Amino acid sequence: MTSLNRFSHPLSFNILELHDRLTTKGFTILFCWIPSHVGISGNELAHKLARSATNSLNSPVPVNDNKKYVKSILHSNWQAQWDHKNTNKLQPIKRLIDCWPTLPIRKLDTVLTRLRIGHTRCTHRHLLLGEPAPLCTACQCQMTVLHILIECQQFNHQRIRCFHSSCITLKDINNFLLF
Ligand SMILES: [Zn+2]
Repeated sequence: MTSLNRFSHPLSFNILELHDRLTTKGFTILFCWIPSHVGISGNELAHKLARSATNSLNSPVPVNDNKKYVKSILHSNWQAQWDHKNTNKLQPIKRLIDCWPTLPIRKLDTVLTRLRIGHTRCTHRHLLLGEPAPLCTACQCQMTVLHILIECQQFNHQRIRCFHSSCITLKDINNFLLF
């Protein structure tokens, strides 16, 4: 509370002043945390009253509150734009724009990133060497990370070992990698 000042937290400051004034007059103030939203009778009314009280305050909004609000709006807009990128091959891999947790071992982090973006030495070396794209020896289709991890039946044994099923989705792998 030592960092509290009138300019950065005007509303909190007003509440504290009012609290002090009332307690010196002998009032006992009991603060009660009210969980937000539905399911509690009278809660909507409390929300309405709280909103009408803040509308009439006419006090400046602290810069930090504005920053947080703008950040949350930007984040939501960014997420909404990303949700509509149906043709982006990374979208199914990363549904949320939040940062992935990093692994403590850099080498593993690199491997994981290469798998996520689908660019590995096995699948993309041909571009550097000017060779034709590698084909799966079992299916004769182009070898991709997606094919190795999900589609190709010759890796069923490995899938069963890790996921206890030969039929898995990107979601299963993402959950597995996010621990
Ligand atoms: Zn295959």
